[in-house]
Amino acid sequence: MQRIGILGGTFDPIHYGHLVIAEEARWTLGLAQIYVVPAAQQPFKQGQQRANPAQRMEMVERACAGNSALVPSDVELRRTPPSYTIDTLQDFRNRLGDSATIWFIVGGDALESLPHWHAAAEIISLARLAAVGRPGSAPDLTWLDAALPGLANSTDRVTGPQLDISSTALRRRVAAGQPIRYQVPEAVLTYIVEQRLYQT
Ligand code: NAP
Repeated sequence: MQRIGILGGTFDPIHYGHLVIAEEARWTLGLAQIYVVPAAQQPFKQGQQRANPAQRMEMVERACAGNSALVPSDVELRRTPPSYTIDTLQDFRNRLGDSATIWFIVGGDALESLPHWHAAAEIISLARLAAVGRPGSAPDLTWLDAALPGLANSTDRVTGPQLDISSTALRRRVAAGQPIRYQVPEAVLTYIVEQRLYQT
């Protein structure tokens, strides 16, 4: 049976916090591959993206280079926005077939908002959730299950090292002229500098 992960994100920019949760999910759940899927337009962040979809895709490709378990996917960039997770899961389910188990990897904030996502009930019928904690926070699955019945049974917790890195803080640091080296892969940093991303 195929065991596949999907890490969706805005990735504006992708950083080591994202790569660590992918690696921990891979190891904990025995995933063969993790598709890393940048959103063209995250439904809750309309108009907030700073780097354009092609630039965020390029950063994802650079971050995944050299790790055959991480597979960049432009599936959401090829669809008309907004990028609904249900459409992405349906796409992977169609390609992988019913026998594959798919985990959608989510951080704590994303998990807490999931009951309000488009077609949330269908999401947990198509995939399991791999819930990764953030430093200092543990999602309350009992409360979330009341908001979206079945969520707790569809969720596997993934614990591991937690890095207090956020894309928002990285963008602010670049704008302030502060270093972000060792928070993003070197090839991503090079691209941010080359493209003059996040400077204002
Ligand atoms: P993001 O900010 O780029 O982050 C991607 C994922 O990594 C999130 O789950 C995030 O969790 C987690 N993460 C980031 N930094 C982390 C760190 N240092 N340690 C641990 N986890 C970390 O992406 P996003 O904008 O939240 O979007 C996440 C996914 O949800 C995307 O695929 C998006 O399309 C989807 N989404 C779908 C809908 C919908 O279908 N209606 C609505 C909203 C979002 P945190 O949330 O905890 O930061």
